[in-house]
Amino acid sequence: MSPKDVEQPTTAKTTSDHSGNSHKHGTSATFLVCSKALARASRAWKCLLYGGFLESKPADGSQWTVRLPEDKPEPMTVVLHLIHGRFRHCPATDKITVEQLYEIKVLTNKYGLTYRLRPWAQAWVRELKAEAKTRNLLSGFLERCLWITWELGDEKLFKALAERIAAKSYDDDGRLFCHLLPKEPRFEGVLEPDMNGWIPETRIRMVESLLPPLRDFFADPLAAMEALRKGGRCADSNCSILILGSLLKSLSQLQLWPLRRASAYRKRPCLLEWDIRQRLDIRTQKDHDLCRKVFFQIWDGKWIGNHRTELGNSVKKHLESQREQSGLA
Ligand SMILES: [Zn+2]
Repeated sequence: MSPKDVEQPTTAKTTSDHSGNSHKHGTSATFLVCSKALARASRAWKCLLYGGFLESKPADGSQWTVRLPEDKPEPMTVVLHLIHGRFRHCPATDKITVEQLYEIKVLTNKYGLTYRLRPWAQAWVRELKAEAKTRNLLSGFLERCLWITWELGDEKLFKALAERIAAKSYDDDGRLFCHLLPKEPRFEGVLEPDMNGWIPETRIRMVESLLPPLRDFFADPLAAMEALRKGGRCADSNCSILILGSLLKSLSQLQLWPLRRASAYRKRPCLLEWDIRQRLDIRTQKDHDLCRKVFFQIWDGKWIGNHRTELGNSVKKHLESQREQSGLA
C-alpha cells in the first residue's frame, strides 16, 4: 500500500507485488491512497502512519510504502473505497456474500472501522438472517456469520447463531468439530468471538436437558409406568411393560444405554434429539397411540428449541458497544 500524502479522491489501483514480499494470502495488490483519510478513519492507521513506526513517512523523501502482508487485497479494496467515500465501487448489500462480508469484518475489527459500516449494517443483518435460515452448513458458514454478528452487535441473531453452532457440534477429546468427513474443527481458519467457553458449555447443557427425563423414568420405573397408565387412560398393564421393554431395547440399539453423564456424550446435541424424536422405537399395545404420545410428553419443554440460554456479561457488553458503532442500537 502506498499512501499518497495529499487529500484528494484516490484511484485505488491494483498491481502485482514483484518486490518478493511474502503474503499469507494467494495474491497481492498495491493501492494508491490518501494517508490523511486513513489516519482520520482509524486510530490504528493514524498510529501506524504517523506514530514513528517503520510504516511512517520516510524522512528522506523516498517512496512511502506500507506493507500489510496479512491483509487480503479483495476486502481491503472495499474498505479503502468506503474510507475514501467511493461508495459506488462497494458491493450492493444484497449482492455481497457471507464470505466477502466476513473478510471485510475481519479488517474493520483489526483497524477499528466498524462505525464506517453504519449505512449498511441494518441491511446486512437482514440479509444475514435470511441467508442463515436457508443455507446449509457449508464449512465455516455459521462461524463466519457469528463473527460478522459479533462485529455488528445484533444480540438476538448472535445468540441464535451461537446456539445453532452448539447444537450442531460434536466433541472429540475436548475439541469441537462440525464435520466428520473431512474432519474439521470448529472455527478452523475463522475468527472466534471471545465467549469464555460458552459454546462447549451450552452444547453440554443441551445434552443435559434431553437426558433427565430418561433418568427420572428409570429412577422409579414402577411409578413411571403407573403415570403412563393414568396418562393414557390405559387399562392394559402389558402396555406399559411393552413401553419399558422397547425403550430399553431401542436405547441400547442407539448406543444410549446405559445412560451416561452429559459430558460423556460426544455427538451433536441435535443428533441426540433426532434419535429420541425419530428413532426411539417405542412399542405399545395395538392402537394405543395415546399411550405412546403420553410417553414422549416426558420431554415437553425439554427439547433443544425450548432451551433457554443466557450470554455472559462481557459478551453482552461487547455486543452493545458494537451496536452503538454499527448503528444497530
Ligand atoms: Zn396403552
